Amino acid sequence: MPKTALKVLYRLKESGFRALLVGGCLRDLLRGKAPKDFDVVTDATPDEIKQLFSNCRLIGRRFRLAHIHYGREIIEVATFRADEKGFTDDQGQVIQHNTFGTIEDDVQRRDFTLNALYYDIEDFSLIDYVGALDDIEAGIIRIIGDANERYQEDPVRMLRGVRFAAKLDMRLAAETERAIADNKDLLQNVPSARLFDETLKLFMSGHALASYEALRLYDLFGVLFPQTDTIFNDFSAPEHARYKKLLKLALKNTDYRLAHNEPVTIGFLYAVILWPVYEQLLTDSLAAETHWHKAMHESIDHVFHQAAMRVGIPMRHKTMVRDIWVMQMRLMADKPTTKKIRGVLAHKRFRAGYDFLTLRMQAGEALESTYELWTQAQIDYPIEKVVYHDDDA
Ligand code: ATP
Ligand code: MG
Repeated sequence: MPKTALKVLYRLKESGFRALLVGGCLRDLLRGKAPKDFDVVTDATPDEIKQLFSNCRLIGRRFRLAHIHYGREIIEVATFRADEKGFTDDQGQVIQHNTFGTIEDDVQRRDFTLNALYYDIEDFSLIDYVGALDDIEAGIIRIIGDANERYQEDPVRMLRGVRFAAKLDMRLAAETERAIADNKDLLQNVPSARLFDETLKLFMSGHALASYEALRLYDLFGVLFPQTDTIFNDFSAPEHARYKKLLKLALKNTDYRLAHNEPVTIGFLYAVILWPVYEQLLTDSLAAETHWHKAMHESIDHVFHQAAMRVGIPMRHKTMVRDIWVMQMRLMADKPTTKKIRGVLAHKRFRAGYDFLTLRMQAGEALESTYELWTQAQIDYPIEKVVYHDDDA
């Protein structure tokens, strides 16, 4: 356990408050994984916490929390919350929830049993109110309370459950799984920015492939990416297998890169996830004999606008998706001149575009000669010798 978490726990305790570790960190430790962060709960109110720590900031819209800063590290401290309904919107989603309670209340508002263990520094004991240890041992993710009710309060719990199943190689309990079918449409009411955050956690935490497979298994992929899901499920279309292979290769690649501390970006994955939608739109629009440049950009706009994804994609990632797709066209140009080749090599998205093309080839497209041309080009024109030509932009 990090010194910083201990410091926070003991400072609270010495000031007469209860202080416990809770949730994800204990779950991860018990499953033999390194915790991403350490969460503390206490009976001190946010204002009382703030008075104890000069390095404390109060944050949170839905829930008020204290963040204690130690350099780049943050220990999150929450006050016990009551299982009271709080203010809900007309879909039954909790929008504000700030009633303080006891530890017995606090446990009931947590999402899954495996996230509801407490570690008490008072007597170094694990406190388990909900059979968390048995579930962790058995590899079962079980919602606390009535599944329908808990998903209605916060539909994102469905995605969280699937994420934990993927990350920890566990499975959802029968009722926890069954209620997803009845409630998954509620995810459409969740703000797109929150869905984007959850998508980042699903795909950028080192278990992207497992997350994708769990999303498909529990039938939630289509809630995030409806158009892609439709294509994936259309077994009459010959391309569906190639598209799925492309995505799996990209996800596997993402996991590999994260495991080796290489940079990854969600923009690249969006380019892969939405590629089938784009490619089909582009084929149709080229068949209508529009100028190809216009056809391409109109198709891209269409993918973004036509709610091709429920997930809100921030602008900078959209720009990356567009650049990667445009780069595919440029890479496939017939007999490019030396000047053109140098121009493409100098583009800041050349590498992403080339990686994308490589994956397409590995997924079964006949792109060998194009791939070889650009592999050779990088040897013939090392990057520092490249002169950027404006007219090629
Ligand atoms: P990780 O940090 O690895 O994503 P975590 O379980 O720590 O997993 P956090 O989002 O950091 O997840 O939340 C900390 C704890 O707060 C959880 O373990 C859980 O007990 C509780 N919690 C988080 N989100 C919800 C939610 N939507 N509904 C109910 N309880 C939640
Ligand atoms: Mg956490």
